[in-house]
Amino acid sequence: MRIDTHVHTSPGSRCSSMAKEAFLRESARHGLEAVCLTNHGNLADYDDIASVATFALRVIPGVEISSPAGDFLIYSADLDFLRGLKAVQSLPGRMQRPEMTAVVWAHPFAGNGGGANAAEDYYARIAPQVDGIEVYNGNWPDDTASALARRIADEFSLAELGGSDAHRNEQLMRCWTEVEGEIDGVIDFVTAVLERGTAAKKK
Ligand SMILES: [Zn+2]
Ligand SMILES: [Zn+2]
Repeated sequence: MRIDTHVHTSPGSRCSSMAKEAFLRESARHGLEAVCLTNHGNLADYDDIASVATFALRVIPGVEISSPAGDFLIYSADLDFLRGLKAVQSLPGRMQRPEMTAVVWAHPFAGNGGGANAAEDYYARIAPQVDGIEVYNGNWPDDTASALARRIADEFSLAELGGSDAHRNEQLMRCWTEVEGEIDGVIDFVTAVLERGTAAKKK
């Protein structure tokens, strides 16, 4: 099953121009059965969309946070936990995360502190705190970056994901995550990440 695991809508993310209606329409056009909504620090659009989404489309709740250590996508069945997250904050430690929560390192090659100039111990310091890593991100489509992310995934046994990081209609599904079997909702998705049962794909 194909899932775009990193999507921003408007007005939930001020940097996005993809209206909630367009998000639903584009998801249907791509034949998606599940999409993760990962707005910056709020669940407002998720709450609106979840109430109107058709049975055919599962919208998985997530929040993206920006921290000094990098950007992270946090998916959880505990909506109150997600609602308590802010757009800019530090990554909650493993003990502070409720059950059925998965943390994915977004564009590790491009976030705060990352990239070619990252300090030697940077990746080793962050990797144990996450469950998965974006091998593909639609905003950084370069092979060197993906190779680096894949190497970290191998070394630290992380789930590999692909997300479009779409902020505009036409950006949906530039990259996606493949999961074996059905994803009926957030619990299935989080379980797939925690069990390393995902694969990163791109167009
Ligand atoms: Zn954004
Ligand atoms: Zn993003």
